[in-house]
Amino acid sequence: MSFKELIINAGSSSLKYQVFEMPEAKVLAKGIFEQIGTDCTFTHKVDKDGEEVKVLDKKSVEAKDHHDAITILLETLTDKETGVLESMNDISAVGHRVLHGGEEFSGSVVVTEDVKAAIRKCIPLGPLHNPANLMGIEVCEEIMKGIPQVAVFDTAFHQTIPDFAYMYALPYKYYLKHGIRRYGFHGTSHRYVSARATDFLMKKYPGKYNPDELKVVTCHLGNGSSITAVKGGKCIDTSMGLTPLDGFIMGSRCGAVDPTAITYIQAKENLSPSETDTMMNKKSGFLGISGVSSDMRDVENAAAEGNERAQLALDIFYYQLTKLIGSYTAALGGVDAICFTAGIGENGIGTREKICENLSYMGVKIDKGANNCRGKEVKISTADSSVEVYVI
Ligand code: AMP
Repeated sequence: MSFKELIINAGSSSLKYQVFEMPEAKVLAKGIFEQIGTDCTFTHKVDKDGEEVKVLDKKSVEAKDHHDAITILLETLTDKETGVLESMNDISAVGHRVLHGGEEFSGSVVVTEDVKAAIRKCIPLGPLHNPANLMGIEVCEEIMKGIPQVAVFDTAFHQTIPDFAYMYALPYKYYLKHGIRRYGFHGTSHRYVSARATDFLMKKYPGKYNPDELKVVTCHLGNGSSITAVKGGKCIDTSMGLTPLDGFIMGSRCGAVDPTAITYIQAKENLSPSETDTMMNKKSGFLGISGVSSDMRDVENAAAEGNERAQLALDIFYYQLTKLIGSYTAALGGVDAICFTAGIGENGIGTREKICENLSYMGVKIDKGANNCRGKEVKISTADSSVEVYVI
């Protein structure tokens, strides 16, 4: 039986959504409200015979808050011209992306008063996202009475990481007092991608793998990047930490650095904690090293034109990623599949080739013809590669 789901990702001044027909997971409509509360614009796309058609393109709308935006969204989704639903009651459930579930949630949950209280409790860990995510839930509860709301957490998939991998060697009291530990993010992506890879391997090689032992490394490479080690479907380590800043070089985030480098810069440059935060999150990474852009395409183009700092940013990215995949292979005791996903993972032909070549010591062999594609689900390793490599 088919049914429809509305998925919402509420940010502080934005709201992204998709309407899915399930179980096929066909996208019927998707879009975004931007600058809610100021000069709000609304972009809305619908599926017409398999083609994505932009029905509204940054249309100015009167949305002073998320309540207005969701009201406009529901009117649009049920409108004869712009809609994909007969009525709001066509929606069986609403799924809400919630950034931080702390140690409270290891999976998705139907929203109750207790769930909302727990999301509120996690606000100190996700101060920019959790309040907006919660607001999206509360507005939907109010407008869409009786339709189940489900919270889906970025952190949940990582709750199986063992304590020796999630603890930082800081005084233990800070873990107890403030919850300072590795949580990890992009969990929905890593969960999906590792499950897909497991599915491919189990179907392709019946009897070869024990599903409880299958070892997968997933590389989510986008503007924000993280990698995970997944054993038997359970995450055992991930590169992001207390916040999505940890790990390796990203678009404008520094990834892991010696913490003392930060306090040193802070003192020398007289930076406040919030200025330091901005420096690490918004002015570092590809942007900080290259001085060109946080966008991989710009950095690649600049490097191709001979910009040495752009090339350095790429070299740092390849090196840190190679090193992390190697360390996760050690943590897993081997690796059966490596997966690439997100903007750079799905489109970065050069990145995938470089990383696979760097991993040739472990028997990774790339099929350059298969790798010459963007945004498709494909196997890019050769038949004699000792590790399967997928773009998902
Ligand atoms: P995401 O955060 O997943 O949307 O990914 C954004 C990143 O993907 C940006 O750094 C983009 O430059 C990168 N990206 C998107 N398309 C391409 C492409 N064709 N080649 C290389 N990188 C790309």
